[in-house]
Amino acid sequence: MDFTLNEAQLLVQRTARDYAERRLKPAAAQLDRSGVFPLEYLQEMAGLGLMGVNISEGLGGAEAGAVAYSLAMTEIAAACASTAVTMAVTNMVGEVIEAFGTEEQRERHVTALTSGRHVAGAFALSEPEAGSDPGGMRTTATRVDGGYLLEGQKQWITSGAHAGVFVVWARTGGAGTRGISCFLVEKGNPGLKPGRAEDKMGLRASNTVPLTLERCFVPASALLGELGGGFKIAMMALDGGRIGIASQACGIARAALDASGKYARDRQQFGKPIADFQAIQWMLADSATELDAALLLTLRAASLKEARQPFSREASMAKLFASEAANAICNRAVQVHGGYGYTREFAVERHLRDVRVTTIYEGTSEIQRTVIARSVLR
Ligand SMILES: Cc1cc2nc3c(=O)[nH]c(=O)nc-3n(C[C@H](O)[C@H](O)[C@H](O)COP(=O)(O)OP(=O)(O)OC[C@H]3O[C@@H](n4cnc5c(N)ncnc54)[C@H](O)[C@@H]3O)c2cc1C
Repeated sequence: MDFTLNEAQLLVQRTARDYAERRLKPAAAQLDRSGVFPLEYLQEMAGLGLMGVNISEGLGGAEAGAVAYSLAMTEIAAACASTAVTMAVTNMVGEVIEAFGTEEQRERHVTALTSGRHVAGAFALSEPEAGSDPGGMRTTATRVDGGYLLEGQKQWITSGAHAGVFVVWARTGGAGTRGISCFLVEKGNPGLKPGRAEDKMGLRASNTVPLTLERCFVPASALLGELGGGFKIAMMALDGGRIGIASQACGIARAALDASGKYARDRQQFGKPIADFQAIQWMLADSATELDAALLLTLRAASLKEARQPFSREASMAKLFASEAANAICNRAVQVHGGYGYTREFAVERHLRDVRVTTIYEGTSEIQRTVIARSVLR
């Protein structure tokens, strides 16, 4: 098996790493403290092709593939997890519109996302009463003259106060998942009302809001894909999205492990560096091994996606393993830092808060296990 990255993948990885080290890493602690949305960084990243890594060049993307996207996400997340989740959702929205959109929808929105004209994209699936079970959504889209009227509530919408385009799911008729369709709603639509930003444990510079859709009119041309075909689009998008979140988890974990190694060499107790104690070495060894396993599962899922082979089960395995391992790695990193790890002075405190959500969003660990078990039992 060949683990060598090709030229394009190395270039994207290097570009993301250089940018993350130079611009994001020095800003991340302050972004976390202030909770300010990383607008200027997102615009710079669009200029580097990072808002459409796996989107075709014709639409302004880098066309570098799913593996390159995973590598870039890991680099950005290692520096600033808040910026990384904003990038992840924007890339996902761009890919979904490219895959299912009409020529006009692609031209209008994908190019705006890749160029940074849309600051971000938003993915509005979850609702207050429908999280793990999006098939239970209540938002409706009723056919009216010239288009549809959307009514309902969405919850936890990343970048909802800033996004230029929202992919919104709503019921168009019929029971179950076949009655769900997908629409593109543009920023500034008077019926689309973002609520107050959530006061989150981590990812504090990312924006997460509830959305109210109140007599929200969209023209018939805003339908994405087929009428009644929305649930399938959501599931396909989430398969790819899970590779993004697995990569984000790997990035945060790598940063926590790097910080732990450095701290263990510097910190002295009992007259020697704590790195000399086997207890510390074993924590570092476990973290390094789990991180490599997480990266390999993630890159396997990404390379299957790139080869246009089925990758749903592998993406769930990567998301499950990487997010759980990253939580353990960040937790150990705080332990290696002792009391200092529990203060804002050291980045591992932020990493532990940021990584927590990776086992929750884009499908909880329990839901990933359900997806995996279904494929095992098939
Ligand atoms: C910071 C953040 C950003 C987010 N961004 C977005 C976004 O941009 N767009 C979007 O649409 N959503 C977004 N989400 C929503 C996210 O995907 C949901 O929170 C997630 O799917 C879980 O749904 P829930 O919170 O309603 O939990 P629930 O579904 O209520 O789950 C609660 C608990 O029950 C468990 N559970 C539920 N069903 C089962 C089952 N069948 N078997 C076993 N256990 C089960 C869950 O695993 C969990 O432990 C975001 C969430 C957060 C926190």
